[in-house]
Order: sequence, then structure tokens, then C-alpha cells
Amino acid sequence: MLQAIKGTLLWTVAALAAAALSFGALIVWPDPLFAFSLGTGKIIVASDRPIPSAGGERFLRDCERLLERSPLKAKGRQYRVYVANADWRQRLFFLPSPKAWGVAYSLFGGPAFLSGANFDTGRVVHWGYVGTPPRTLAWLCAHELTHIIVGQHVGLARFRLPRWVWEGFPDYVGIENRQSFEELRDALGDRPVDIPMMIGYGSYPRYRLLVTFFIEKKGWSVDQLLQTRLTEDEATEIMRGDAKR
Ligand SMILES: [Zn+2]
Repeated sequence: MLQAIKGTLLWTVAALAAAALSFGALIVWPDPLFAFSLGTGKIIVASDRPIPSAGGERFLRDCERLLERSPLKAKGRQYRVYVANADWRQRLFFLPSPKAWGVAYSLFGGPAFLSGANFDTGRVVHWGYVGTPPRTLAWLCAHELTHIIVGQHVGLARFRLPRWVWEGFPDYVGIENRQSFEELRDALGDRPVDIPMMIGYGSYPRYRLLVTFFIEKKGWSVDQLLQTRLTEDEATEIMRGDAKR
């Protein structure tokens, strides 16, 4: 009996290990599942559907321009972005966060996956929902690649980054028309984050406000930002205290 349980356990562990390995291999080399690709520069985009050349090139240009504007320079030679339009591909590659619009496997040094895309309009298409500016396809690309660039910069320390930095900085980089700190603060007011706020100001408006504050008002360098261990509450308190002075 004990022997049988031991045997089953061993097989289960082996099967799980094999599944994890196959998934890892698929993440590192998803190319066989994405027949179409575009780009020769810093960013390569691949998709399971044909990529219209004008829209595709505009997307690459826009995403690259947003990254060039970032205070954290992309040191990697090349970054790969995969667009998973088909439902089953989305389910597969978005396994760690099924509801997300994008996922960055920053631990592996990339790649990033985006849920469906309309390159002609520059919009994200997520399970039938069409994203609107400022959360455009280029924003999503810059957001996800910033996760990867941050991961390359700080290594495993990325797991110790406060969430407001981890998500706020990529939104700060990806938003095309960045508001000043005062503009964003006045627009958000004291309201809690809800769907209309996310539609209007990016997926992480409060985190972006904090990042904008520390970079633009406190003059923090990107390294100072990536080294901070301030919690969201502590950071918010500093921001509010500053406004009172
Ligand atoms: Zn993110």
C-alpha cells in the first residue's frame, strides 16, 4: 500500500515537473505558435494573425518612442512582444494572470505577451473589449516591456519592490500624455480607484501619481525609486505632507 502511494506520488511529481518544464520552454521560445512577425530594431512583435504593415510599424515606433522617453534606459539588445489573439493561446500564455491585458515574464528576461490587438487602430482587444486611450496598444507594450527592463536592472530584488513602484513606474513610462503631478492629483482627487478612473488615467492611476510625485517633485532618480521600500501608505503620507507645507 505504502509502496503504491509512494509510486503515485513520484509519478505526480514527475508529471508536474515535466509540465512546468514544458511551460518554461514555451515561454522562452513561443515562436512556433506565432506565425507572423515584424520588426528588425529594438522590438520584435509576433502574432498569431497577420500584422498589417502600416499599423504594425506604427505600433513598434510608438512603443519604442515611449521607452526612449523613460528615465530607465533599455539595455537589452532586443525585446520580444507576442500578441495572443486566439482564445486558447491567451489562456495558455496568461496562465499566471488570466484577466490581465498583458503579461511580462520578467524573471526569464522576457518575453511579454499582449492579449488581442488591432494594429490598424492601435487598440488593445481583450476578450471582445476594446481598450481606449490612454490605455492604447503602445501603452500596453511600453508598460509590459518596462516590467522586463526593470527586472533586468534590479534582478531578483524586483520581488521586494513595493507594488506602487512595480506597477506605477510602467504606467508612468507608458502613458502618452503624461500629466504633471498637480494635474494628475487634482484630476484623481480623493476618490478610490474604480473602473472609470482606470479608463481615464491608466490601470494604476494612484500608483502613477506617487511615482510622478517622487520623480518630478522630489527629484528622485530612477535608482532611488527602484531602491525604495516605502509602502504605499508611507509614500502617500509623504506626498500629502508635502502638499501641506
Ligand atoms: Zn503591469
